[in-house]
Amino acid sequence: MESLFKRWVILSDSTMRKKYEAYIKSTDAKIAAFLEFDVDRGLGLAAEVGKGGELEGVPFAVKDIIAVRGFRLTCGSKILENFVSPYTATAVEKLIAKGGVMVGKTNLDEFGMGSSTDNSALGKTNNPWDTERVCGGSSGGSAAAVAAGMVPFALGSDTGGSVRQPAAFCGVYGLKPTYGAVSRYGLVAYASSLEVIGVCARSVGIARTVFDIMKGQDEKDQSSLNSGTDAPEPEAGVIGVLGGNLGLDPAVDRAYRATIDFYRSKGFEIREINLSMADYYVPVYYTIATAEASANLARYTGIRYGYRPGYAENPEELTRKARSEGFGNEVKLRILLGTYVLRSGFQDQYYQRAQRLRQAIRADFDRAFTRADVILMPVFPTQAFLRGQGGLDQFQQKLADRFTTAANLAGLPALSFPAAVSDGLPAGMQFLAPAFGEARLFDIVRLYEEHFPCPQPPSCKPEWS
Ligand code: GLN
Repeated sequence: MESLFKRWVILSDSTMRKKYEAYIKSTDAKIAAFLEFDVDRGLGLAAEVGKGGELEGVPFAVKDIIAVRGFRLTCGSKILENFVSPYTATAVEKLIAKGGVMVGKTNLDEFGMGSSTDNSALGKTNNPWDTERVCGGSSGGSAAAVAAGMVPFALGSDTGGSVRQPAAFCGVYGLKPTYGAVSRYGLVAYASSLEVIGVCARSVGIARTVFDIMKGQDEKDQSSLNSGTDAPEPEAGVIGVLGGNLGLDPAVDRAYRATIDFYRSKGFEIREINLSMADYYVPVYYTIATAEASANLARYTGIRYGYRPGYAENPEELTRKARSEGFGNEVKLRILLGTYVLRSGFQDQYYQRAQRLRQAIRADFDRAFTRADVILMPVFPTQAFLRGQGGLDQFQQKLADRFTTAANLAGLPALSFPAAVSDGLPAGMQFLAPAFGEARLFDIVRLYEEHFPCPQPPSCKPEWS
């Protein structure tokens, strides 16, 4: 355990702390992963409870959609730009109780909606491998902060891939736990039935330790639960893989094949599986996610907290102005879509149909896991894309969520990992396991990590990382 974080015990020593803060200052000037950074405040939170814990003196960061007392909770939105959280999320509280020092809040796509972090109303975050490229999203600031060696791990939330995809773009590990395995108390809701707090990490061991600390039932989140068994997971022997044309960019396709070859050479049986519902992941995800978002975001009225327009004649106008001035375009689009699919008389056609398909998607995975212990698939069809013209537009980004959304729709755990570096950019793969099969995921990815350790962007190699 000690060796995992040893080099990262930075904040118990004043010389190291100075070096660290100087590194963050110069590095984050280029990357812009943090929306807020304050070591003193982080140490203050830890000092109250965390003496002697296994994370003592270790910095970590939190996506700015997860509450930490005394820090802002902007959700990357103008509507919450000045909102300071009066309480701390359970997952974060557990890490602080182990001595972890929450040093800052990271940038994200507004309310978690997007795949690039460019949908943040509060600035753009650059990919540490190539600052012309996006860092992925929506937990892009968290992945970029880990990749740049600014923290050993950072929390994110994964509703449709938002931990795994930026982790893949930045070349770090990204865990999306089983639905309910980690309390959502303190996670601002986007699509409640799909999302879970996860972690971007520098190594498999770190991801595992952080998950073990965070997990477990919480009376403040009625959908959280314990795994039910402490029995050791049987090791995976059969890996399910996808056949046919997956529409991947050449570098991602090569990485997928090379990863399969690696595991075959390690004695795993590789079995092609047929996920017959795959064409439905994206439409079902966007129907359910936008429906839930339209309900969850109804609370931002400009009345009790958040952005308030300068002048309004009456409460109705106040709310209208607060929402039209406070939300960005992607958020508005999704609220409109969600309201549309929930319209009375149309629920059967869209929302309820999507729910039935979601059941079928779950059943499809149940069947797949009778044939394979884990499933290996790409995270995203491309590597980190360029901003603007050479990149992906909002619609293409949504279509590209076809590999990540599956785990959220089925509630399954998934772990993405840096499988290769090609043309100077990382390419990520992910394993999926049956519910509460996180240990199986850590074990199998650990094997890969032993042979191909986490790559580091050439320009970001501080002494502790
Ligand atoms: N790309 C997905 C979306 O835009 C990811 C969302 C997420 O996981 N928060 O909805």
